[in-house]
Formats: sequence, C-alpha cells, structure tokens
Amino acid sequence: MKLVYTHENTAIVQNAKNLLENNGIKVILKNEFASGGAGDLVPAETWPEVYVLNKHDYTRAVELVSALSNKANEPDWFCESCKEPNGAMFESCWNCQAVPVS
Ligand SMILES: [Zn+2]
Repeated sequence: MKLVYTHENTAIVQNAKNLLENNGIKVILKNEFASGGAGDLVPAETWPEVYVLNKHDYTRAVELVSALSNKANEPDWFCESCKEPNGAMFESCWNCQAVPVS
C-alpha cells in the first residue's frame, strides 16, 4: 500500500479517489473524517489520504493525480443548475452533483 495523494480538502481527495477508481485502480481513503469544516486549520497529519493497494499501480496513479492537480490551476466553472462555482478538477458539481454541459 502506497500513499499517492493527500490534501487538506476532503472533496479534492475524494475526487482523486474517484478518478483512480474510474481508471481501474484499487485505492483506499484514510483520515476521511479527520478534517474539520471549511476554514478550520487542520494539521497536515490529519489530512485525508489516498493509498493505492497494488504497488504496480502506483506510477500510473501518480500520473493521473498529477494531471488532476494541473487541472486545479484552470479556471473555475459555474454549475448550470445551482450556480455554484466549482474548481476545474471537479467533474460534477460539489453542491448538487450536476454534470456541466460542455
Ligand atoms: Zn450545482
């Protein structure tokens, strides 16, 4: 088992986990419920963490997750249904789960 991704924002970590699972990589999430609400300062050791179960998936997992991180620098998109801004790495609205019309 190898740590592939960690971030203070649970939603972003969850998104990374989903991306890896969608690519057929077995992962587990740790510290999922350890972090506080938005705005709380949380020590790094309690950040949610994504681990790959099979070490031969590790290199591919890192590539997928780094592509995701690059996407995080792209502009936000606004949800068609609830008008909430979403980070570019989110494939569906964090608030209402609507998928953007592209
Ligand atoms: Zn929405």
